[in-house]
Amino acid sequence: MTKYEPVIGLEIHAELKTKTKMFCACKNDPDEHHPNFNICPICTGQPGTLPVINREAVDKVIKVGLALKSKIPEITKWDRKNYFYPDLPKGYQISQYDKPICLGGELSIPGIAKKIKITRVHLEEDTGRLIHFGHIGHSLVDFNRAGVPLMELVTEPDITSGKEAVAFAQELQLALRYLGVSDADMEKGQLRVEANLSLKPVGAKELGTKVEVKNLNSFKAVRDAIDFEIKRQTKILERGEKIVQQTYGWNESKGETVLQRTKEESHDYRYFPEPDLPLLKTNVELVKEIETGLPELPSGKRKRFKSEYGLTDNQINILVNNKKLAGFFENVLSELMNLESGDKNKLANLSANYILGDFLGLLNKSSAEVDDTRITAEDFAELVGLVHKGDITTSAAKEVLKEMWATGKDPSNIIDEKDLGQVQDTDELKKAAEKIISKNQAAVADYKKGKEASLQFLIGQVMAVTRGKANPEIISDILKKLLK
Ligand code: ADP
Ligand code: ZN
Ligand code: MG
Repeated sequence: MTKYEPVIGLEIHAELKTKTKMFCACKNDPDEHHPNFNICPICTGQPGTLPVINREAVDKVIKVGLALKSKIPEITKWDRKNYFYPDLPKGYQISQYDKPICLGGELSIPGIAKKIKITRVHLEEDTGRLIHFGHIGHSLVDFNRAGVPLMELVTEPDITSGKEAVAFAQELQLALRYLGVSDADMEKGQLRVEANLSLKPVGAKELGTKVEVKNLNSFKAVRDAIDFEIKRQTKILERGEKIVQQTYGWNESKGETVLQRTKEESHDYRYFPEPDLPLLKTNVELVKEIETGLPELPSGKRKRFKSEYGLTDNQINILVNNKKLAGFFENVLSELMNLESGDKNKLANLSANYILGDFLGLLNKSSAEVDDTRITAEDFAELVGLVHKGDITTSAAKEVLKEMWATGKDPSNIIDEKDLGQVQDTDELKKAAEKIISKNQAAVADYKKGKEASLQFLIGQVMAVTRGKANPEIISDILKKLLK
């Protein structure tokens, strides 16, 4: 039987984070919950109004294009995409048809380092939002979102599985956040994915007929819908039937794609040049300026964290996925390098362990971000430095961190107040060890018979009486000597 392989291309929309809307001066505020508050005659399509291009939005799309190594053509053009829907007050959407702002480009999927080619990135405007009250047979419309700048990115059909599609979309999301052009939150509809999928016999050159799947509102939906569609199309082809070019939606609760309509062609939209807007000529100087101002991207940060600090892939992934946490890590490390002399990679690893362990735990528990906390990078570095020097034990460090979190005090204060400094006095430790030995004769006997676990038990007991201030390795040495 013929074996098939999937061919997938994505169309991804992202709402841009700009001060104002795409063609008017209304505020672009995704958090405005009062319906029809940020609206004006332009974004509600009143007769006689004229659009004005939002420069910030254009610059942001150029920024995305440069980050993706796209070409920024000399001329870019606006077109009307005509269709009727109640959330589209003008009866057309201003979009870009044959002269988008960015052409070509690529984005690598991390981990597998596979390059996905980008076809284009263009700019358009978002629609309003319909709220349906099915039970009373009414729908309401909110135009706050109408005219919000929307970026659309189209990939070449280079993707071969649901998993790859998700990895690509997540990497794009992260890049958009690093670039500061979009919050790209899928739950809020700021990032929307459509998947085009066809099958072809393994190794065949020619592509099969594709189906488009819309309404993919979460990464899970992207993966599940693609996996479902691969199975559905395989069955059809194996029956010897043909795939029809159609548009599907994703039904989350049923876990299946559902037919929406037979695919529209671009001529159905009667695209024509927007008569109310001029062609835009690219300012080469400006593009250069945007290019020099590009921030480090996730892929660059991953490479640098590996080569500069020797972190593990796991540490790197968690840090890079959270730009603020990655910044905090680097601030802690640079403070720490001022305090401590020592191998950079070792200090980096120790810092990363504390940041990704207890600290991230505290952040997650209270759904806080790094800059919401009272802990400064300086104080955090001091804490890691104290552990590094052996001035406090790791269990005392946990306690100090909790107290730093709660009070914002610096570690040395907390250590003094709570008397958490490591017990350095071996006489004191020896006395404590002797007491534990005399109280736990059974464990002592077991240890002498060769049961290692009993030594751990005795260490634990000494730790407990010294309230976690003693170094377990030193206790272990003392106990071993006493028990010889
Ligand atoms: P349309 O004109 O139907 O919108 P496009 O050529 O603009 O189609 O492509 C839209 C998306 O579909 C792109 O991401 C592209 O990579 C992808 N695509 C195109 N042809 C195929 C195919 N045969 N199988 C899978 N994806 C495809
Ligand atoms: Zn407006
Ligand atoms: Mg298309």
